[in-house]
Amino acid sequence: MKQKIPCFCENAFSVDVPDEIDLDARPEYINEIMDGTFMNFICPSCGKKHKPEFPITINWPERKLRIEALPELERGEFYRRRKKAGKKSEPKEPPPLETVIGYPELADRIAVIRDGLEPAAVEALKYYLLVKAEESLKDEDREISIWYQGKTDSLEFHIHGIREGEVAVMRIPLALYEKTLDDYKKRPRGEIFASLRTGSYLSVQNMLRPEILK
Ligand SMILES: [Zn+2]
Repeated sequence: MKQKIPCFCENAFSVDVPDEIDLDARPEYINEIMDGTFMNFICPSCGKKHKPEFPITINWPERKLRIEALPELERGEFYRRRKKAGKKSEPKEPPPLETVIGYPELADRIAVIRDGLEPAAVEALKYYLLVKAEESLKDEDREISIWYQGKTDSLEFHIHGIREGEVAVMRIPLALYEKTLDDYKKRPRGEIFASLRTGSYLSVQNMLRPEILK
């Protein structure tokens, strides 16, 4: 689909953006999504780099993943649309098309799937880590975010925003991941796991959203 990107140099330019990509057929997209170079465009007039977010569907048949990435700017709209549609519109379990919001969350999910992990368990671990991080903030009002980084003999997460300009590295032992995964398999609709999901959207963000969007 053709999309127009407005630039500060007062020239808008057109780019050709796919509606859907297949990671089995084009594995080079995996690294681009992870390193943030996916869908970067250079303005032909002034050379400025743009990183817009267009809605896109990602297929990864080998990993049985089919996911839509919505732009971060549509986050509020996603919740409002669901609220309006009411409970009847709840998709079947599992939903035919999973949702992530914002390309950073897309990169995070692709990394989780690449590493063979269950997203519900990873999002639950993020929630535990965020609760701990918020305790350490006390009364400071800061926006903190958490991202999955990778797996070695532990799962590594980065928390942004605890201190200005610093990234906190947190490691979760694999055994704790396995235990969380086990809890999820036993009780997939247990309290925490149910709260992590809003329809097709599974994310710790569902527990952090402002009251007005619930
Ligand atoms: Zn420009």
